[in-house]
Amino acid sequence: MRVYNFSAGPAMLPIEALTVAQSELTDWKGSGMSVLEVSHRGKDFVACAAETEQLLREVLAVPDNYRVLFLQGGASGQFDAIPLNLTAAGDRVDFIKTGQWSAKAIKAAKAQGLEVSVIADQAASNYTDTPAADSLVVDPSAAYLHYTPNETIGGVEFGYVPAAGEVPLVADFSSTILSRPINVADYGLIYAGAQKNMGPSGLCVTIVRDDLLGRARPGTPSIWNYSEMAAADSMLNTPPTFGVYLLGLILKWVADLGGLPAMAERNRAKAEALYGFIDASGYYSNPVAADSRSWMNVPFLQANAELDKTFVAEAAAAGLTNLAGHRSVGGMRASIYNAMPAEGVQALIDFMTDFERRNG
Ligand SMILES: *Cc1c(COP(=O)(O)O)cnc(C)c1O
Repeated sequence: MRVYNFSAGPAMLPIEALTVAQSELTDWKGSGMSVLEVSHRGKDFVACAAETEQLLREVLAVPDNYRVLFLQGGASGQFDAIPLNLTAAGDRVDFIKTGQWSAKAIKAAKAQGLEVSVIADQAASNYTDTPAADSLVVDPSAAYLHYTPNETIGGVEFGYVPAAGEVPLVADFSSTILSRPINVADYGLIYAGAQKNMGPSGLCVTIVRDDLLGRARPGTPSIWNYSEMAAADSMLNTPPTFGVYLLGLILKWVADLGGLPAMAERNRAKAEALYGFIDASGYYSNPVAADSRSWMNVPFLQANAELDKTFVAEAAAAGLTNLAGHRSVGGMRASIYNAMPAEGVQALIDFMTDFERRNG
């Protein structure tokens, strides 16, 4: 029996894509081997990687002057790779701090000796909101402006794209990529670990504008060097082959459902249903400002926090798994990525209603 898995990541994946992977697992394309066992330099896998890239370009409408890189080391690896590739020693970089993931990206940039300017820090709200769009002042000499469109732990999502002028905008899209249409041309660089909305862990997708290539600092390790990776079609070394393959299946699923506009409609409806229920309830609450609520990660508290463990355990027994909040914040969190069907969100609301009736 499949459960409704509310994990923040690795997260629930579409059953349609998993079923195709299952059916092909022992004999992929008549090779008598699984995709896990073929050479990454063989023509079948090279074609598979090219097809995945092409699908990603179509689904996200990636302009021709951007390179798509299939990397490893997760989004965390990019926290280090981005400054290595986009700055010279002593450069200044601007950051917006909206929670724990942006804090980690800031820490990594500081560790490289950069002059880090945090142009907005939402500490005053305990990281439950995003800065006002017109409050942001970007230093025109900054090497880039980095922000985190969706803070996975706090459930805080930007409702707008920060205006960075000529300064390249760099965005950690790990937990919101493919959830709705975006205008890639607004960004200098987009990166995302796959394990939230795109597939298995071990694959990280970086989409970088051409003019930002060729600037890596001397001594940048080759596998972290965007130009070298781009020149080698992301195959300087063995790529995460299964992740690239599964991303292709998931992109087909997204395209079949109507692409990102359809995804946005599904995700908006799911989020509205869950936040609407929480707001109407006198028992559950969500601390995030209304204009900054994430469509993907919904943290919530119950009036009697002593029952959190009971809530999580009883939900799991009912087939609603991984609802414990992040260890740093407690409470509960429902991650409702693309693969979570509306039925799963409704099942959660029904469970929450019943739990409140019994315990509220
Ligand atoms: C999950 C996540 C990360 C970390 O990803 P790894 O692949 O584990 O390094 C970074 N940023 C955000 C926004 C995330 O959701």
